Amino acid sequence: MKIAVLPGDGIGTEIVAEAVRVLDALELKFEMETALVGGAAYEAHGHPLPESTLKLAKEADAVLFGAVGDWKYDKLDRPLRPEQAILGLRKNLGLFANFRPAICYEQLVGASSLKPELIAGLDILIIRELTGDIYFGQPRGKRVATDGHFPGAEEAFDTMRYSRPEIERIARVAFEAARKRSKRVTSVDKANVLETFQFWKDVVTEVHKDYPDVELDHMYVDNAAMQLVKAPKKFDVVVTGNMFGDILSDEAAMLTGSIGMLPSASLNSNKQGLYEPSHGSAPDIAGQGVANPLATILSAAMMLRFSLDQAEAADRIESAVKAVLASGLRTADIWSEGTTKVGTREMGDAVVAAITKKTITG
Ligand code: NAD
Repeated sequence: MKIAVLPGDGIGTEIVAEAVRVLDALELKFEMETALVGGAAYEAHGHPLPESTLKLAKEADAVLFGAVGDWKYDKLDRPLRPEQAILGLRKNLGLFANFRPAICYEQLVGASSLKPELIAGLDILIIRELTGDIYFGQPRGKRVATDGHFPGAEEAFDTMRYSRPEIERIARVAFEAARKRSKRVTSVDKANVLETFQFWKDVVTEVHKDYPDVELDHMYVDNAAMQLVKAPKKFDVVVTGNMFGDILSDEAAMLTGSIGMLPSASLNSNKQGLYEPSHGSAPDIAGQGVANPLATILSAAMMLRFSLDQAEAADRIESAVKAVLASGLRTADIWSEGTTKVGTREMGDAVVAAITKKTITG
């Protein structure tokens, strides 16, 4: 088994280092190879996703990714910006299914801006289609309008589109995932306004016929955004398109209080996957040793479970994280009165210690 380790920029290098130490502590047999990606790769090779990095990612069974980006690259041409590396990896590896769990850990109930009773025990899984929709649809661009409200004016446009196979495969991923949970799927669309999402709704409904044991309901995206803050525990598996999923998964993430806690996985049809924290490169705290490494460590657990067939090792990581939280250790983003504030490295040390069953102090 081979893991491509791509730390990236900002806090990426700090948090991935901790996840690698946690993987090492498991003493499993896999090879890890590190490469540059994002701004770091642009500085060294003039491109955010150099050929050598892409080759490594393609050959690996899984990619452990940190984060990319920094405001200083905002003026670069779009194809050279660090964030393009993620889009390139998704496209080249065919990573069409994005899993974003939003779990509220018992000890962190107070970190949410919602009332504790609304989010205690929250465990939802947002499945976002990742390679289609308005983010990739052609044509797109800028032009002079020939019609619309202001003919002759400059305008920009993108194209929202989904094909039947794209919807079918993401619907199947959602129904299969629901079978391993509480067998409920909510498909989020905007069928009342958009042709693309009326088609989405129709195809999801057809695919559902193959999964009679799973309950399906449909919800408009505006209502889903409201329900997520009103009664988030009503949801179990949520499946939606690329743009709605982008927004709703961040909203769901924040329900739990800290984006520093939330892992994600992006998979293709061969179980090959890219695993990364749900947050970005956090340039505001980079290099200070204060970033929360737990989202990345939990992403490594997802990697073991989904791409490397090591469910037991994944359980060990997740139990270790719970034990560390129970011991009262917190990075600054999840710190509250009465708990012990630690840095990135100390948090990594504590997870490693819990895995190797050394005493956790805090
Ligand atoms: P961000 O997620 O990097 O940061 C948002 C806020 O959350 C910041 O205050 C940051 O300090 C905090 N934060 C994030 N992760 C944290 C952690 N592990 N521990 C503690 N606090 C944490 O989002 P942003 O500020 O909008 O974007 C910063 C850069 O990251 C941009 O260049 C953006 O394009 C890029 N980005 C990259 C990815 C990715 O690599 N997948 C995703 C989102 C944003």
